Amino acid sequence: MSQAAPIVFVSREDASRAADWVKALQQAMPGERIVPFDELDEMTRDQCQIAVVANPDPQRLRGMPQLRWVHSVWAGVERLAPALRDSGLQLTRLIDPRLSSTMAEAVLAWTLYLHREMPLYAQRQRFRVWRAEQYVLPEQRTVGILGLGALGVEAARALLAARFNVCGWSRTARTVQGVQTYSGQQGLHAMLAKSDILVCLLPLTADTCGLLDAERLAMLPPQAQLINFARGPIIDDAALCAALDSARLRHAVLDVFATEPLPPDQWHWTHPGVTVLPHCSAPTNRETASAIVAANVQHFRRTGEIAANVDLERGY
Ligand code: NAP
Repeated sequence: MSQAAPIVFVSREDASRAADWVKALQQAMPGERIVPFDELDEMTRDQCQIAVVANPDPQRLRGMPQLRWVHSVWAGVERLAPALRDSGLQLTRLIDPRLSSTMAEAVLAWTLYLHREMPLYAQRQRFRVWRAEQYVLPEQRTVGILGLGALGVEAARALLAARFNVCGWSRTARTVQGVQTYSGQQGLHAMLAKSDILVCLLPLTADTCGLLDAERLAMLPPQAQLINFARGPIIDDAALCAALDSARLRHAVLDVFATEPLPPDQWHWTHPGVTVLPHCSAPTNRETASAIVAANVQHFRRTGEIAANVDLERGY
């Protein structure tokens, strides 16, 4: 029986991180050979059907004649999906319950940070001000989640368990127990109007880029607060700055930015209404991610079916 071609690992990560990925993937798939792109000779590369990727150069993928399937070890594919449109390749992104629970933990943690007024008390301490705010019950706060996918639904569950009022918005209509759900433009506006804390967990696509512009930010209740754990360009940065400057928006927790790392001269670093996080809300877990890739590869070897889960036209 002829041996299957190796699985090529394509990445622009630094060498040590790429090596860690290859090691973890190899351990999860002892029956396969996982080889970094640069270590394959051209003839073997030309036979590869499967690529596992972490921020790859799409041209490398398009240049492999036998390649059928690209499996990302990351959840977001906002660069890869448009770059592979019309390539004939199938794309799988990471859907990992561990990632969802890590994100749900982050959403709960930073929602509580805003709910319990931690930025305000930190500010008051700086000025030696001893003053307590009136306590607000979580039931009295509505948290709106943009995106009810793998991450949004788990986040909603964590918030419900902490007794918040939770609503959520998606492209197509969804039912999530205990969550008031919305879809479509009108649904978005209705949800914004009641979100004391708005959490963004949308994918970045042509439709969501700049979605939270000045007009939509103005639909939030006065003194609303915002958490962006999705992608920077979903929020219009200038509109966000203006909404914070005018104190219409009280605080924003931002984990993601148009340019990362966030350059030192950016306004976010010093704005009193902003908490900057270094894209750390939900890192991929290498072991669980590798196990998921391994299960999908085994399924493919057994059945020939590719567990593609990204619609390249839709962009997510
Ligand atoms: P997902 O399962 O694909 O869910 C996406 C959700 O957004 C779905 O509910 C989808 O609606 C909705 N949506 C997409 N386009 C929309 C539109 N135009 N209007 C309204 N709703 C729209 O994605 P996920 O796994 O939850 O991940 C979401 C994003 O989180 C990723 O794309 C990634 O960028 C980001 N992320 C960030 C971190 C971090 O550390 N900061 C970590 C992991 C992921 P339907 O339900 O109708 O399809």
